[in-house]
Amino acid sequence: MCGIIGYIGNNNALPMLIDGLKRLEYRGYDSSGIAILRDGEIHLQKKVGKVSELEKAAPLKDYTGSIGIGHTRWATHGEPSDVNAHPHMSNDGTIAMIHNGIIENYHTIKTKLEKLGYKFKSATDTEALVHLIQEMKKVSGDLETAVRLALRQVDGTYGIAVVSSQEPDKIIVARKGSPLIIGVGENEHYVASDAAAIIPYTRQVVYMEDGEIAVLTKNTFETKTIDNVEKIKQIHEVTFDIEEIEKGGYDHFMLKEIMEQPETLRNAMRGRVLLNEGNAKLSGLNDVTLLLENAQRIIITACGTSWHAGLVGEYMLEQYAKVSVEVEYASEFRYRNPIIKPTDVLFLISQSGETADTLAALREAKKKGASVLGICNVVGSTIARESQGGVYIHAGPEIGVASTKAFSSQLVVLSLVTLLIAHQRESVSHDVLMTMCKELLDLPSKVEKILKDTSQIEKIAEEFKTSNNFLYLGRGYNFPVALEGALKLKEISYIHAEGYPAAEMKHGPIALIDENMPVVVIATKDSTYEKIISNIQEVKARKGKVIAIANDGDDHIDTLADYVIKVPHTLDMLSPILNVIPLQLLSYFIAVKRGCNVDQPRNLAKSVTVE
Ligand code: GLU
Repeated sequence: MCGIIGYIGNNNALPMLIDGLKRLEYRGYDSSGIAILRDGEIHLQKKVGKVSELEKAAPLKDYTGSIGIGHTRWATHGEPSDVNAHPHMSNDGTIAMIHNGIIENYHTIKTKLEKLGYKFKSATDTEALVHLIQEMKKVSGDLETAVRLALRQVDGTYGIAVVSSQEPDKIIVARKGSPLIIGVGENEHYVASDAAAIIPYTRQVVYMEDGEIAVLTKNTFETKTIDNVEKIKQIHEVTFDIEEIEKGGYDHFMLKEIMEQPETLRNAMRGRVLLNEGNAKLSGLNDVTLLLENAQRIIITACGTSWHAGLVGEYMLEQYAKVSVEVEYASEFRYRNPIIKPTDVLFLISQSGETADTLAALREAKKKGASVLGICNVVGSTIARESQGGVYIHAGPEIGVASTKAFSSQLVVLSLVTLLIAHQRESVSHDVLMTMCKELLDLPSKVEKILKDTSQIEKIAEEFKTSNNFLYLGRGYNFPVALEGALKLKEISYIHAEGYPAAEMKHGPIALIDENMPVVVIATKDSTYEKIISNIQEVKARKGKVIAIANDGDDHIDTLADYVIKVPHTLDMLSPILNVIPLQLLSYFIAVKRGCNVDQPRNLAKSVTVE
């Protein structure tokens, strides 16, 4: 989610680190920092904002030294600020560390270390690890062993680089769940989150794997597992250009982000699903537990794709948490003088956390005495700051203007909120809650299955790329998915598309159906399956072309629809998370085939910060 860079060699590290950080800025960009070793001391500089702010920071130009590490941050714990920026220093000032990922059990580690007298300066999870390394060094004596011992106590994900003024001839790096590569130069080594950062310097790289640690010196690199078993690694030659690397080898950020969803869903759930208890752990809601328990009504307000997520959330919360929910466009909510009671709880959903209308709705609701909670991607964003609590979706930077991975992660978070409130209120049985947990945890591998082969969806896209209109139909939990599918297509391919609750078709849109009208029907096996099959028949009777999203093993639908895209089965409430994926891909492929600018569609902006 962020960018890591490191250098050890004979040259001045600073210009290379700054240059590398700029190349990594697309990965995360809320703050940055560097640590350079010189004359047995660590010189540190950190700055909130873009890398150019760090570059401008006064003492930076004086930082000469040929060992250094740098970081561009995408905050997960603690708002973007100078103090929360990386590198983080150990209390004794001898160790500096940068980290990409999330230390799930940082709170437990922090509590233990505080008892031992360690002082914490930042609100990050990362800082717990650097102090733990200092503590382990008391036992081990050397930095490498200390890092290994510390990492064995860590749950979560990390790509780290560590330097110490007491061992100023090395950088220790390690990886679990966050990407990390070593660059091999002549009498110099690099470390980076991806090759984009180091390509101007070397194309010889070693890909680190999960559970590996490496010690880099000027002339050598040594790789081991964190259990201290030696590993011989191959050196590869990077042949891609920088643009390709940034997009992870995909043609567009949108496709990269669609493909990242197994991982982003895991990140949204990491450490939050309590399987045995049938509960969710959402620390951002800890201070509002009572409020949630006593809420008479939940209002969800958002715009665009986030509003669609909100609609799914309404179905989830009403079915399982048995609380009455209203979902409203933020732009409408803020102007219609809504009636808000002190027992109402408002959830604001916004990827960027800066959406102008959603922010205005938050302020309006607060003025009227409601409790406001945020569901955002960007840590420290205005909505996150002005809310009384909330949940981050941890999807990482979303660069494609059409939201994909943020939507599925918003749905995961809404499921977790449902789990939490349903558990609190005992509104459904323990077995039901456990099933919810289990099905949630199974989602990433099911998404992997959908993404494994996209060729059929590409063929369907070829077939319909010249259509001028599309209709999307769904019922229940999948009505909002129909809306989202239609929105995705409109946004990036400029084809006119409408989403409808399938039963509404006969109240109007059916007039549009003829042999030229493609109708995408979400027909996975849920409580409305039989009804939606009838809707498919109605479309077919009027010669419409049906593209159905159905479950694996559903052969019956093959005889009815013109095209069937199969997805794995899951709980009704979670089915939108799987069903939306083929729709994202369908709109992506159609847009590409029409020659549209997928990542930056005309007239649209990523974060709508104006009314
Ligand atoms: N969890 C760390 C933080 O919030 C690292 C985030 C990142 O990967 O940039 O500081």
